[in-house]
Amino acid sequence: MKTAQLLNYARDQWIAGDSAALADINSAIDGSLVAKTGSGGLDFAAMLHHARNVGGPALRRLTFHERARIIKGLGLAILERKEELYELNYLTGATRKDGWIDIEGGAGTLLSFSSKGRRELPDAHVLLDGALEPLSKSGSFIGQHIYTPLQGAAVHINAFNFPVWGMLEKLAPTLLAGMPAIVKPASSTAYLCEAAFRVMIDSGLLPDGAVQLIVGGVGDLFDHLTGQDVVSFTGSAATALKLRSHPVVQRESVKFVAEQDSLNASLLGPDAGPGTPEFDLFVKEVVNEMTVKAGQKCTAIRRAMAPAEHLDAVEAAIRERLQATKVGDPRDRESRMGALVSCAQRDDVRAQIAKLTAAGARIVSGDPDASPGVAGGAFLEPILLRTDDPWHASAVHDVEAFGPVSTVMPYKHIADAVALANRGMGSLALSLFTYSPGAAREFIQGAAAYHGRMLVLNRDNAAESTGHGSPLPVLVHGGPGRAGGSEEMGGVRGVKHYMQRTAIQSTPAMIAAISEQYIPGGPKHVIEQHPFRRRMSELQIGDTLKTPSRTVTLEDIEHFAHFTGDTFYAHMDDEAAKASPIFEGRVAHGYLILSFAAGLFVDPDPGPVLANTGLENLRFLTPLYPGDSMRVELTVRAKSLKSEDTGVVRWAVEVFNQKDELIATYDLLTENVP
Ligand code: NDP
Repeated sequence: MKTAQLLNYARDQWIAGDSAALADINSAIDGSLVAKTGSGGLDFAAMLHHARNVGGPALRRLTFHERARIIKGLGLAILERKEELYELNYLTGATRKDGWIDIEGGAGTLLSFSSKGRRELPDAHVLLDGALEPLSKSGSFIGQHIYTPLQGAAVHINAFNFPVWGMLEKLAPTLLAGMPAIVKPASSTAYLCEAAFRVMIDSGLLPDGAVQLIVGGVGDLFDHLTGQDVVSFTGSAATALKLRSHPVVQRESVKFVAEQDSLNASLLGPDAGPGTPEFDLFVKEVVNEMTVKAGQKCTAIRRAMAPAEHLDAVEAAIRERLQATKVGDPRDRESRMGALVSCAQRDDVRAQIAKLTAAGARIVSGDPDASPGVAGGAFLEPILLRTDDPWHASAVHDVEAFGPVSTVMPYKHIADAVALANRGMGSLALSLFTYSPGAAREFIQGAAAYHGRMLVLNRDNAAESTGHGSPLPVLVHGGPGRAGGSEEMGGVRGVKHYMQRTAIQSTPAMIAAISEQYIPGGPKHVIEQHPFRRRMSELQIGDTLKTPSRTVTLEDIEHFAHFTGDTFYAHMDDEAAKASPIFEGRVAHGYLILSFAAGLFVDPDPGPVLANTGLENLRFLTPLYPGDSMRVELTVRAKSLKSEDTGVVRWAVEVFNQKDELIATYDLLTENVP
């Protein structure tokens, strides 16, 4: 361990906490001293001020795509130095496999957010929310919701169990949104978080003030929060309640995002008796969730439910696997399960097990008083409990033993299973093992309101499934009620927690200027040179090509119908078309309009437009009859850089008839030379 005392990172400086007020952090493996830590002497108000006045403005000057590229660089930097982190990971009691979830899972979350950001957010400073709302007859007064970054600091308070992933899953959406963060890891594993944080600082990618670190208490930080700040917390329900009840959080309406303990359930479907693939998958997953990270996962399965007639078989199969699980030094390749984070945490888990047994659950595998592994370490055997009366043993739905502990229990039928699953009063993750679509529908529809993420696993998806316990950056992580009532991640959804939504009312020209995009009805600049002859950097938002018009004849329609095989009545049968409530006679195919539109606006020579990569938001608004003519206005709506060598241009394509009525509109995406 190279750092005997962990350092805070405040106002772009590494700062040691007061030496008089340091706490010891001990190794989970043998109790030896790993580091001392503390944040005494930090000026917390000044840290918030620095985030708001230095970090925030620097991040907000960048576009979503520029920030996404920084986030990718941070993920790659962590991967490059991952072995340093794996060495520290062992001291937390975690095996290499556990560490993979934390370290590479954390870096992967950064990479995933970076790619989502570049694909789904504009290369701009403002994010549009939903469609434009017409508010007047002539279209001069419209409404548009937009998101802009909050102008305070995001305070991240993280749990001990995933010191790297826990930091990065919050940092990725925060930085992508354009908000600076102050990170406070849990003390017991702060040395691993500090090391990962150092890698990010060493990368030199982050602007000043973008991130700060507190390796100790938060002092009077909460007294200085405002409504532009966000607190994002992971940990116990008790701490969450204390922090969200802070008078300043209440008075200033500080956004508070909470992930807290939950009694996640897993269910064996009514169809999945012994001998089915789903039975085996269920047993394997329950054991996996009990032993990965020694069960210290917010999503771990605490309640394993099975049809009453299969409960004995489930218990026996889980016990058999648990008893073959070697608990020991996480550095030892033979060990399948390492230690809990600390002896204090093990004492807490033992106390919770005692509450479960006092409520009538009985231990059917493992001895909570045994001390396997290394002397002085925080090791515990996995403990399986069983209750045959989950309807009255309410502790099994309320008491969370945050370790390698789970309780098996019976259910009678699906409605009963729904009631028991929901009895946890809100959870982060639930899994159902079934091959019956009917059972899945009945169960999920009955229980989804109580659970943040639900996995239906069976023989068809098991090989590729990421499993019950893995939150994914593209899916929401969070849950109602007891789980904290919040959501994190979920791709762009998670970014919006760090932004403010504002309804803007104005003219199309103003909304276009504000949002850095072309908006229908907004200003267009007709250009002389064909826009396909311009590199992306030479194109301006609003640059427009107006094409000549062409007449569409009946012969064109018939030729297209026979050539493509699309002889739908509306194009070929005049009488039937007239009889329809929509058409006055035969009409041109929508696909013919698209093809002729391309024929009108395309410039054929190679580059700088390299390829057509798709159409979006296509609408056919007015029928085009034989003899009508059509013309196109092609306008640069938005541009973004995809890589150093390619960019993406989003073009607004508007097709008009001879009466200047809009007959079709869509976005065309092209890949361009930047
Ligand atoms: P805590 O709630 O005690 O701590 C969580 C975080 O809050 C830590 O960073 C802790 O820092 C910090 N914290 C504690 N008190 C304050 C305070 N007054 N002001 C500011 N920050 C504070 O949870 P633990 O990590 O100790 O875990 C305890 C329980 O939480 C577990 O047994 C489990 O039930 C649950 N848990 C839930 C998780 C989830 O994701 N849902 C994950 C991990 C735990 P410090 O360490 O310095 O005290």
